[in-house]
Amino acid sequence: MAKINLFQSAMQQLDVAAKILNLDKQILVQLQHPSRVLSVSVPINLDNGEVRVFQGFRVQYNDARGPFKGGLRYHSQVDMDEVKALAFWMSIKNAVVDIPFGGGKGGIAVDPKKLSKRELERLSRKFIDLIYKDIGPKVDVPAPDVNTTPEIMGWMVDEYSKLVGKFTPAVITGKPLSMGGSQGREEATGFGGVAVLKQAAKAAKLKKHATMAVQGFGNVGSNFSEVAIQAGFKLVAVSDSKSGIYSPKGLDLKKLRDYKHQHQTFIGFPGAAEVTNEKLLELPVDVLVPAALENQIHQGNAKKIRAKIIVEMANGPTTPAADLILNARGVWVIPDVLANSGGVAASYLEWSQNLKGLKWTKKVVLGKLTVYMTKAWQQVLATHEKYQTDFRTAAFILAINRIAQAMRDRGL
Ligand code: NAD
Repeated sequence: MAKINLFQSAMQQLDVAAKILNLDKQILVQLQHPSRVLSVSVPINLDNGEVRVFQGFRVQYNDARGPFKGGLRYHSQVDMDEVKALAFWMSIKNAVVDIPFGGGKGGIAVDPKKLSKRELERLSRKFIDLIYKDIGPKVDVPAPDVNTTPEIMGWMVDEYSKLVGKFTPAVITGKPLSMGGSQGREEATGFGGVAVLKQAAKAAKLKKHATMAVQGFGNVGSNFSEVAIQAGFKLVAVSDSKSGIYSPKGLDLKKLRDYKHQHQTFIGFPGAAEVTNEKLLELPVDVLVPAALENQIHQGNAKKIRAKIIVEMANGPTTPAADLILNARGVWVIPDVLANSGGVAASYLEWSQNLKGLKWTKKVVLGKLTVYMTKAWQQVLATHEKYQTDFRTAAFILAINRIAQAMRDRGL
């Protein structure tokens, strides 16, 4: 399949909502372009003494509602179009969940598994050396994303703090707890997705113990699985980049995690059949949870999806062509800009604590997060009913209205 240009997909989604809203052209044209794009060459010394240069990106898309905010991903296929699309989606996402941030995103084109820990630290610090003048607690606040961890965020905060001459935890979220990270941040994205799924399942009248398949078992997929199981959903299939399994009777999460930890693969897990990542998407389940990478559900497989609800925990897992097919078939697609906004909502709570010098308990953080997620779902549902549109378009309408209002109020 030809590589789908994510930025074009994002702009198609913007156009659909803008037409319905009859959006002012002056606002639309600004939303079609990022405010600022940074591209940096990041040279580091490898452990063997060689110098290698990696390409790094930061896109600051829109800050009408507050500082730019969005993650940094380390992946060999990161490119500018992808980062622009993700930065646009962050602007939408932050407006959907109604936190006072604009949207940004960044990343480095690197396979972190091919670097030693010291090399990874040098790369992360050098990236901050190159962009530190363009970020800051009230300017642009990065966070973790694919293949980036609290440890990496810790190195980055340390580097930034040295450069500006004062400890500045609010410059980056998703930090280790010891340096101002928030309780509950690690599980927040999965937790927030389940808060939305519970509401959607009720509205869609799904039966108790509805079955679910989860593609991708990293931070988001594994935490989502844990919280969803606690909420009564039955996990029947999981996958990672190399392996996938299916057991209609249900998978025991603790045993599954232990098995994966021990064998580095799901294959061979007792009582479960092997399944490819493609087939996992087509299993007869109630809920499908893409929690890995983008463009997984496309024109070629959308007709074969049998789930009633798709909860987009990954960013951009469904192409616009697939959306049309799924909407026509009555499949509920809970869009990424709503479903996975728990991560950035918890980032906002972390940033707020840092700025005020506070430390909230996990219960307090997850309680506040539940309020944000439930309200966002109710507002997207109300917009979906008002405009008679799919949920993605409804979320875009809600968000674009909020961003446009801020742009008008600021006189942009
Ligand atoms: P992660 O690196 O912790 O995990 C990614 C998982 O996906 C791993 O299990 C990996 O093996 C798997 N994977 C990679 N390629 C795959 C493939 N082709 N098929 C199936 N599985 C594959 O990343 P994460 O933080 O869990 O993020 C996952 C998705 O969620 C990304 O799209 C990310 O942008 C999005 N997201 C993450 C957060 C967050 O707080 N971490 C917030 C919002 C959105």
